[in-house]
Amino acid sequence: MSVFPTYNRFPLTIESGKGTVVTDDEGNQYLDFVSGIAVCNLGHRPPAVEQAIQEQLGKVWHVSNLYQIPVQQEAAELLTAETNLDYAFFCNSGAEANEAAIKLARKHTGKEKIITFKQSFHGRTFATMSATGQDKVHQGFGTLLPTFEYLPYNDSEAVTEWDGEDTAAIMVEVIQGEGGVVEGTELFLQAVQKKCRETGALFIIDEVQTGIGRTGEPFAYQHFGLDPDIVTSAKGLGSGFPVGAMLGKAELAETFTAGSHGSTFGGNPLASAAVKATLQTIFPKQFLQDVKEKGSYLQQQIKSKLSPIDGVKEVRGKGLMIGIEMDTQAIEFIHKLRGKGLLAVLAGPQVIRLLPPLNVSGEEIDRAVSILEDVLQLEKSSTP
Ligand SMILES: *Cc1c(COP(=O)(O)O)cnc(C)c1O
Repeated sequence: MSVFPTYNRFPLTIESGKGTVVTDDEGNQYLDFVSGIAVCNLGHRPPAVEQAIQEQLGKVWHVSNLYQIPVQQEAAELLTAETNLDYAFFCNSGAEANEAAIKLARKHTGKEKIITFKQSFHGRTFATMSATGQDKVHQGFGTLLPTFEYLPYNDSEAVTEWDGEDTAAIMVEVIQGEGGVVEGTELFLQAVQKKCRETGALFIIDEVQTGIGRTGEPFAYQHFGLDPDIVTSAKGLGSGFPVGAMLGKAELAETFTAGSHGSTFGGNPLASAAVKATLQTIFPKQFLQDVKEKGSYLQQQIKSKLSPIDGVKEVRGKGLMIGIEMDTQAIEFIHKLRGKGLLAVLAGPQVIRLLPPLNVSGEEIDRAVSILEDVLQLEKSSTP
């Protein structure tokens, strides 16, 4: 009882995990289709990452960013090689990556206003909370940073009509994760990019949840051929080692010069070793091709087996980021799924979100779908 109750915790204590399977303190096993919320993208304790961290543990854990850190350079090169971006800034979380993006956009453009979208989620620090377009996240904290404005998501007209004056940046998620697994349309995302080009605002894409292979591309924006100025990453970046990164175009290096921004821990040798091993495993074409195929298979199984069930409103998502929208509150389903050995997480009150490890097996997918079928069907027959 010594931890602030900022989370409603389920009565589950996970003691160990390997791959997709976790074991609780009573020896019960579960298929983990949460992955620590899109963090353990290679499952629990992936051997390549475990080995890289162990090797680094035996050399040096932390050195200041005042010194050369070759493994951080290598991690940055792996990230930039797979994107249209040139530089990485390392930090420790998604909020910090977005915080860096907000600071960089304001300093680089000399403007203050930042456009974000309703139902977005960008983090819990003061700036990223203000960037988040959800009242429930703001509640009780008084005056927010005044320079954020929220436009409706997937409304390309609202973006086109926005005058864009004084705008430092537009920040958007390609798929709103916390907002309910809502995919951006091509029309909308292209309208955002166009508005940025017309006004000189920086185009920031928050890939904290959608990045690192989750949707079958290194980053989800790559499905749409977009050309962002800044991309933020965290969650899956270190396979569970806490680390975040902001990636940006070369010209932004004129602004983020020595002394302009920093982080004590950001990209330290342990974190960078985890990032390097994670990216070396996930970014190769064949691995991502497998993610696409597993994602299609899971979606197709869910659509054919679950969509016909009463109460299932819509199945959405890309790759291995999937939302099942119910026509009622979904929390009871999350409890019942856990009771039958499947961990899933909410995305908003009515959406069951599935985020399995990217190397989940076909057999594990089949078992998960069969548990979902049982639980959702049971619910239908038990309601009068
Ligand atoms: C989780 C998340 C964040 C915040 O990341 P933290 O590491 O919790 O600070 C920001 N943006 C998106 C899209 C996220 O899903």
